[in-house]
Amino acid sequence: MRKKFISYAVPCIGDDDIKESDKVLRSDWIATGPKQEEFSNAISKYTNANHSIAVSSCTAALDIAIGAMNFAPESEIITTPFTFAATSNAILYNRCKPVFADIDKETRNIDPKSIEKRITKKTKAVIYVDYAGHPCEMDEIKEIAKKHGLYTIEDAAHSIGAEYRGRKIGSIADVTAFSFHALKNITTGEGGAVSTNDQNLYEKMKMLMNHGIDKSAMDRFGKEADYGYDMKMLGKNYRMTDFQCAIGISQLRKLDSFIKIKSKLSEFYDEELSKIVGIEIPEVKPHVKHAWHLYTVLLGGGIDRDAFFRKMRTMNIGVNVHYIPIYNFTYYKQFNINKNDFPITEDVYRRIITLPLHAKMTKEDAKDVIEAVRTSLN
Ligand SMILES: *Cc1c(COP(=O)(O)O)cnc(C)c1O
Repeated sequence: MRKKFISYAVPCIGDDDIKESDKVLRSDWIATGPKQEEFSNAISKYTNANHSIAVSSCTAALDIAIGAMNFAPESEIITTPFTFAATSNAILYNRCKPVFADIDKETRNIDPKSIEKRITKKTKAVIYVDYAGHPCEMDEIKEIAKKHGLYTIEDAAHSIGAEYRGRKIGSIADVTAFSFHALKNITTGEGGAVSTNDQNLYEKMKMLMNHGIDKSAMDRFGKEADYGYDMKMLGKNYRMTDFQCAIGISQLRKLDSFIKIKSKLSEFYDEELSKIVGIEIPEVKPHVKHAWHLYTVLLGGGIDRDAFFRKMRTMNIGVNVHYIPIYNFTYYKQFNINKNDFPITEDVYRRIITLPLHAKMTKEDAKDVIEAVRTSLN
């Protein structure tokens, strides 16, 4: 048995990242400023989006994305229930109604056919999540959105670095939201960003992340600058510190190498786990590049997931469950959502387990995980 607990994910911060943030911390500008602009531009360059804004979290990113679209209260936004609570909470912040669609069993992504069934006269947007780092079926989703005049928002908390039909995630949806939380593909501790090709949405999001004010602190700094500014919308303080942005710039340079390590480990998992009866390995569509934020498997019929979870944890393997469907949460009970409308989500939720996968892991670690899977199933 492993002596040391292995977590499903860990932050991968190196001396190079620390050095960059150290420089900023010793300067006179540590809150949002030049490094935030530099990080935002680096995200645009990486994702091929026209505009990006580094903000304090992906939750903030989703909130300002919906806010910029300015929907009337009670508007409906379709999303997946198989995600972190932040995705649909952002809909509620904007006084809109989350309407859940079912998922696809293989990718655990929102099922475009289910989206179409949930559309009403009140539907204004679709928020889809690239689960585990596997891009959604964007062509189909965008076609549905176009047909019904809906905005698309991509919750890419798992998928920076992924590609859909040769295109980097970040400029395909109307707005894409990224997360730089400690356990995501790259990290700034807490952090996030939006990317878009839409100039109008960009300008609104830029205000919404800074109280609705039309000028940044940098715009008002220095000998030539004026003190004046206006507040045009009711925004929030979703600004990211410059010392975090310095870490982000440095982390972004290493993103592709992190993905490479994780994709090699995933291949090894696939190879070994496919030999084990009772384990269904995740499917990767041929037209995508996976970002491998998570490696999840489905347990076959008759295997008790929760008992398996306990056994793995006892053996120091930090398995996890992503996700508890959102409609199960106490707060969401008020919306009277019927579980029976989500047969695939329910089936996947009962059988899914996340195995450890991160860029600090070695093949030996992966072997320990596989060995523990074998032992747990016996
Ligand atoms: C982590 C996560 C978020 C929230 O990201 P934060 O940066 O922590 O706000 C949103 N959606 C999904 C799918 C996530 O995994």
